[in-house]
Amino acid sequence: MRLLVTGGCGFIGSNFIRDMLARHDGLTIVNLDLLTYAGNRQSLADVEAAYGGTRYFFARGDIANAELVLHLFEEHAIEAVANFAAESHVDRSITDASPFVRTNIAGTQSLLDASRHFGIKRFVHVSTDEVYGTLGPDGKFTEETPLAPNSPYSASKAGADMLVRAAHETFGMDTVITRCSNNYGPFQFPEKLIPLMFSRAMADEALPVYGDGLNVRDWIYVLDHCRGVELALLKGKSGEVYNFGGDAEKPNIEVVRTILKALGKPESLIRFVTDRPGHDLRYAMDFTKATRELGFAPAYDFSRGIAETMAWYQQNGPWLESVASGAYRQFMASWYGDR
Ligand code: NAD
Repeated sequence: MRLLVTGGCGFIGSNFIRDMLARHDGLTIVNLDLLTYAGNRQSLADVEAAYGGTRYFFARGDIANAELVLHLFEEHAIEAVANFAAESHVDRSITDASPFVRTNIAGTQSLLDASRHFGIKRFVHVSTDEVYGTLGPDGKFTEETPLAPNSPYSASKAGADMLVRAAHETFGMDTVITRCSNNYGPFQFPEKLIPLMFSRAMADEALPVYGDGLNVRDWIYVLDHCRGVELALLKGKSGEVYNFGGDAEKPNIEVVRTILKALGKPESLIRFVTDRPGHDLRYAMDFTKATRELGFAPAYDFSRGIAETMAWYQQNGPWLESVASGAYRQFMASWYGDR
């Protein structure tokens, strides 16, 4: 298979590419990534060394650039797409939603247009539990839960999901949408909760925790999510949506305490800060459909996953340093500086 992966220099995409190339000999991957602040080619240095120019090709560019996308499809005879590329940080979408609309919505449509033009076999769109909005203390999101996004980020992802659905309904395109809960693991950009808390704790800096810290997320180890996307690509039914989760619901404050404990740092570093506007209270995923139809089951429990993640960040200080660019530092100072 000749697969176009978009956003492959980001957190989940880079884990996906490494895992897929190692386990599927007949697979060639073309990675289209704009290398925004969140994309880092270094995250795939080992993949480039092993497969560059044979089974792995990198192209820097924007998924919303229709001409470039058409050219890549033609040049590499693309047969399937896994669309990971996105602006993905909720706090940034609150500051400025326009890149989210361009990449997440217009970019997805540009990929769908090229996929239709070339009649590709499968389009997997990687989406999020956040499109469902928020839960109270009970219940879980199923694939039937109505979409009710609450942040500009989740609204833009929901918009993309609707365009993918429309491509299937209108043109009969072979699409699958995956919706996953919060990921953690190696190569995650340090603006997200777990690597953010890790890097601040390591520097003995205050750890900003929104509100009362009781917002609940269902945490999934990134490789489990990658295996879910692989199953959706290879076995998903056309036109379907599949939820993935880690079966590990945790309040944010518990995650932060676990990190502090693992690093031997004091809880006095925790600072409760003004809550994020529109902050969803709780997400939890019912993924029985993915288990039944695809054989999906998370392999990592939270304690193993978090231990491996902490060990990876401790061993990969230079990676963490290299991704924390000037622009990133500026954003972090403006967002968290006074919190
Ligand atoms: P990320 O922010 O780490 O990576 C996004 C990648 O997309 C970066 O490499 C960036 O350079 C690239 N990109 C951004 N705009 C682009 C554009 N216009 N054209 C080409 N490339 C572009 O994100 P992530 O955490 O790896 O998430 C990947 C996907 O998974 C996203 O679609 C996200 O919505 C979804 N998702 C993430 C999570 C999570 O917990 N991180 C959970 C569920 C779903």
